[in-house]
Amino acid sequence: MATELEDGFPAEKLFNQGYSYTYDDVIFLPHYIDFPTDAVNLSTKLSRNVPLSIPWVSSPMDTVTESYMASAMAALGGIGIIHSNVTPSEQADMIRSVKSRRVPILSSPVFKAPDSRIVDEFDSNDVPFVLVTQSGTQKTKLLGYIARSDWLGLKDKEIKLEEIMRTDANVCVPWDYDLGQIDDKLKKEGRDFVVVEKEGGEVVDALTKEEVDRVKGYPKLGKGTVGSDGRWMVGAAIGTRESDKERLEQLVKAGVDVIVLDSSQGNSVYQIEMIKYVKRTYPELDVIGGNVVTMSQAQNLIKAGVDGLRVGMGSGSICTTQEVCAVGRGQATAVYKVSSMAAQSGIPVIADGGISFSGHIVKALVLGASTVMMGSFLAGSTEAPGAYDYDEKKKCRVKKYRGMGSLEAMAKGSDQRYLGDTAKLKIAQGVVGAVADKGSVLKLVPYTMQAVKQGFQDLGASSLQSAHDLLRSKTLRLEVRTSAAQVEGGVHGLTSHEKKAF
Ligand code: 5GP
Repeated sequence: MATELEDGFPAEKLFNQGYSYTYDDVIFLPHYIDFPTDAVNLSTKLSRNVPLSIPWVSSPMDTVTESYMASAMAALGGIGIIHSNVTPSEQADMIRSVKSRRVPILSSPVFKAPDSRIVDEFDSNDVPFVLVTQSGTQKTKLLGYIARSDWLGLKDKEIKLEEIMRTDANVCVPWDYDLGQIDDKLKKEGRDFVVVEKEGGEVVDALTKEEVDRVKGYPKLGKGTVGSDGRWMVGAAIGTRESDKERLEQLVKAGVDVIVLDSSQGNSVYQIEMIKYVKRTYPELDVIGGNVVTMSQAQNLIKAGVDGLRVGMGSGSICTTQEVCAVGRGQATAVYKVSSMAAQSGIPVIADGGISFSGHIVKALVLGASTVMMGSFLAGSTEAPGAYDYDEKKKCRVKKYRGMGSLEAMAKGSDQRYLGDTAKLKIAQGVVGAVADKGSVLKLVPYTMQAVKQGFQDLGASSLQSAHDLLRSKTLRLEVRTSAAQVEGGVHGLTSHEKKAF
């Protein structure tokens, strides 16, 4: 290529002028394309020892990541971090649930004991079949099942289930069957559902043909994020109190692969002590520290031994920290500054919060992050916790999305993240809201990743490493967008339009 003409600013110059820039404030200048979009490889690392095939992490929030979301993230090649706004044993159960399946489908079948009888709840349309196990719960072996059609025509509702249940061992498949294998079985045997079992016979789930067909309709899944135990990888959040050591022990027993120390201001004596404790007690377990936004905060946690850093303070969509506490940093500046420092020690950075579009993901990754963590982008999806409501004004289905520092979430126990170990009065640093139905993340994520790859191609970066090389060699050039440039960069001047991304 011809000798570079001086044009735009290198990141180092742009981010050293005393301004706190958000993703929207900055724009990359395009570079040179010499490869197709599909040649862009977005494989990366969450933390020192956790490789991912896509740079995608779901946030530990109680309206974003429980087992269903974490299974979907792992199936896509990313990872989910299970929130800690539940008891330690409930959080550990969620880890077990992710680790006991290979299909990103989660249903809640009805279980009954053999001596139970037909009950009114069976008549609900939501109950296509009932599984009979010795204990009447998921925790024991399947003895039989009763399909809806079997009980609807039945006159004697007092009859015990064991007298009418079907005993067909062939309805079961092992836990590690993937979508293709389950689909083959459903088709070959003309079944409406299969029961997924663990090695010892405990029931994992029951998957219907309808659900399998739904997931089959999405872009094809790869092998997902599988750990050395041969199971999907999953992370979990904990705090820094003494009681979190006991929580951690339960999570480790459940097989957690990585721990995130969940604090809005991570540069504290509590976190540093916890990092040292985790590394001393479980040297094989990766621990991610944060949140941080400055180089010196990052340096302290790196010295304490973190395997990854989570970056962001006040950039989240539900967050009021900058208004309430007057601390934080524009997310583009924070990601660039912390990544520049962390790269010297080989510590991957998670850009956490503030992602609304695929372009924000491109900006976070190119400015030095190894992964992006999202809350609002994933909330409202099929896999997010909670039920849909209908918003009459907006004429769409919505799901609740709330900050973990909102009074509502803190009332359930998440106050530690925002109030630290000492505060007695609760002051909110987040809000409760709702987001529109986004459909399944199994569709949303692959399409968004394709858009991210196009951004990388425009910049001439075929991988995260090559993007970071362009950044640090000052080949990558940026500019600040004036407010008029930001208006120009969006859709404008139309009387109406419909925005459909895919
Ligand atoms: P989003 O992707 O919605 O923009 O941001 C999600 C991130 O916001 C989370 O990963 C977390 O770091 C942060 N967050 C979650 N809840 C709260 C809250 O109540 N207050 C603040 N300040 N940040 C929050």
